Amino acid sequence: MSVQVHSSIDGTAGRDWRMAIGRGLMGRCPHCGEGRLFRAFLKPVDSCEACGEALHHQRADDLPPYIVITIVGHIIVGGLLMAEKYAEWPMWLHMSVWLPLTVVLSLLLMQPVKGGVIGLQWAMRMHGFSGEPARPERQPGASVAPRP
Ligand SMILES: [Zn+2]
Repeated sequence: MSVQVHSSIDGTAGRDWRMAIGRGLMGRCPHCGEGRLFRAFLKPVDSCEACGEALHHQRADDLPPYIVITIVGHIIVGGLLMAEKYAEWPMWLHMSVWLPLTVVLSLLLMQPVKGGVIGLQWAMRMHGFSGEPARPERQPGASVAPRP
């Protein structure tokens, strides 16, 4: 007789969050690492083509852009300040380096970061990745709290 333990302090319960994030960063299914995670630039597949894991539960929402803004902001602002301190760049050079670099880095990072966020959500069993509905439907007519 075997007993499966479905609880852990961090909620991952046997799912390696580092591996799941790594697979997501590579655009692969966080469960098997084989199937593609995205069917378009930022559009995840509904389920993994390799293992069948349901991936439509993901709710990455605004987190990937926040993370990308933080990363790109540190690179661009840091680089700009270094260029200002150690080189005397004319304004046209600043504009022709930092603006395109901001756009390119943001586009390059967005999909991997979103994949990593989905991998983390999968590992943490968030938003229905636990196998249970994320938001149970309320019964019609049921009130959340009695009115005073
Ligand atoms: Zn898979």
